[in-house]
Amino acid sequence: MSELAPYAVSAANSRGRRYAEDRPSMRGEFQRDRDRIIHSTAFRRLEYKTQVFVNHEGDLFRTRLTHSLEVAQIARGIARALRLNEDLVEAVSLAHDLGHTPFGHAGQDALNDCMRDYGGFEHNLQSLRIVDFLEERYAAFNGLNLCFETREGIVKHCSLDNARQLGELGERFLNRTQPSLEAQICNLADEIAYNNHDVDDGLRSGLITLEQLESVGLFARHAADVKAIYPNLAGRRLIHETIRRMINVLVCDLIETTAANIARQPVRDLAEARQSSPLVAFSDELREAQREMKRFLRTQLYQHYQVLRMTSKAKRIIGDLFGAFISDPRLLPPQYQSPADGDQPRAVADYIAGMTDRYAMKEHRRLFAVGEI
Ligand code: MG
Repeated sequence: MSELAPYAVSAANSRGRRYAEDRPSMRGEFQRDRDRIIHSTAFRRLEYKTQVFVNHEGDLFRTRLTHSLEVAQIARGIARALRLNEDLVEAVSLAHDLGHTPFGHAGQDALNDCMRDYGGFEHNLQSLRIVDFLEERYAAFNGLNLCFETREGIVKHCSLDNARQLGELGERFLNRTQPSLEAQICNLADEIAYNNHDVDDGLRSGLITLEQLESVGLFARHAADVKAIYPNLAGRRLIHETIRRMINVLVCDLIETTAANIARQPVRDLAEARQSSPLVAFSDELREAQREMKRFLRTQLYQHYQVLRMTSKAKRIIGDLFGAFISDPRLLPPQYQSPADGDQPRAVADYIAGMTDRYAMKEHRRLFAVGEI
């Protein structure tokens, strides 16, 4: 790694870990965070959690795990080009979706509804809860004891009410300051990853078509470029040649726009980067192009009737499980009964949020199907 920019996060300017530990001997602090995340139980569960398509719908669709790997890859490329901390963006990217429920956003909405009277449910905060409390791997502390900057990057957004309960992690939402530039990168790398892989998965599923995508400026432009060079190209290769160009132009634009922002509003160190307006950004043109793509995906893919059927089933499964456990906590595995802090609804939410798609369906059958235990 070339030398870090003065406003990058480093071990030297880190706010450190909640529980003091010896410095790692053969790797950096943020490499250690990444390693802890990869070894966690929650990380392995990502393999069987939905991004858009439920795991059993096909082997080639993205899961939360492959999504997280794509985010990490995109974020690392951007961080290296801007001389920011590549290890930190990798750690944040790999951890950013740990708190997701089974069944993607439908699962999160359903669990949030169930938890309305008990403080709500939010997947960002759940990711933090996993790395701060729920993972049981170390003798000396709960959770993974990650560095402040990794935890800060995980909490992408948060209501003011929740921010008040987060201590120093919540301050930036109350003071309206920014997280590190590395955290800002992860946020936009997430967007680049899902917009592009959802186009790919959507086409693969047959729920959206190339003809429909021709109405989206960003896609149409790059598909035309590909066809100008390869007039006879069709099918998967046309799709992939188009998508790789879209990813490339978004990544390059983000790097160039961010470098120009920093040149225009010079920041001398990390503290100034936090006080500045958001510096990591797309150009206006590509921000608008991304918005158009998102609108297309929302109306044509995420709200497609076949996706909505799965979504509605997922909501029912989550609602049923929550209802059964909250009315009789004795149905829960023992470790979730009578939690030490007395917050039984939160323990139910932890249990449900930790389920993979297929585990949730299995648990639902165990509780509700006659003839199965
Ligand atoms: Mg994500």
